[in-house]
Amino acid sequence: MNQYVDIGINLMHRSFNLDREEVIRTAAEAGVFPLIITGSNLRSSETGADYAARHKDIYSTAGVHPHDAKTCDGQTIERLRRLCKRSQVVAVGECGLDYDRDFSPRDIQRKWFEAQIQLAKEEHMPLFLHERAAFADFKSILSSYKEVCGRAVVHCFTGTRDELRAYLDLGCYIGITGWICDRRRGMALRGTVKDIPADRLMIETDGPFLLPRNLNERPADNRNEPRFLPHIAGEIAACRGESVERLADMTTANAKRFFRID
Ligand SMILES: [Zn+2]
Repeated sequence: MNQYVDIGINLMHRSFNLDREEVIRTAAEAGVFPLIITGSNLRSSETGADYAARHKDIYSTAGVHPHDAKTCDGQTIERLRRLCKRSQVVAVGECGLDYDRDFSPRDIQRKWFEAQIQLAKEEHMPLFLHERAAFADFKSILSSYKEVCGRAVVHCFTGTRDELRAYLDLGCYIGITGWICDRRRGMALRGTVKDIPADRLMIETDGPFLLPRNLNERPADNRNEPRFLPHIAGEIAACRGESVERLADMTTANAKRFFRID
């Protein structure tokens, strides 16, 4: 059976509160393991790390999403740093810029994005990055930290061919979600995903968000979860004109190398 690593699952989200163990079990049955829990603020980063410590094949990231940048204070970076020292915490993030919804003021987003890049650099950790409608500023900040870009993944990439080219030129990895299964919104992405070199591609659900639109049996609650990752992988493989076996093998190898997990 193919193995798939879900590099981005918001497993501490409240929609998983009643059946988190079952979600992990059904994922493993579908070949989806390890899972990397996305930390999106201090709280979810800390609970995610605690949860990962109690479970085999579960890892987590530690970071503050740009939406939550306004909650950062003088202690945030040191608390994230303490999380980075824990063996199950495998990346700094998610962090970055989101000008689509502007839940935090843009200058505050930029400040804490840069602080988290600096943290990753100091702690020799990979970066799990989020960018939405903020390409120019995002690229300009990243470009001043070229040494970290080779260990950075731009997660849930949905941008243009030129944006993809810029990230690849910086040395970044690219994370693709079930967005690609949406034949309206994901149309451009279905073309550009071919341009991602095999050794720079990783896959993720971003559950509970972004349920693939073309699932045969859509769950009543529209909750996305790791067991749907093979479906997403199938779509990506079809768009790239390669077998799902090859896609699974290479994205799994990339994830294990990138996050240093086995
Ligand atoms: Zn994100």
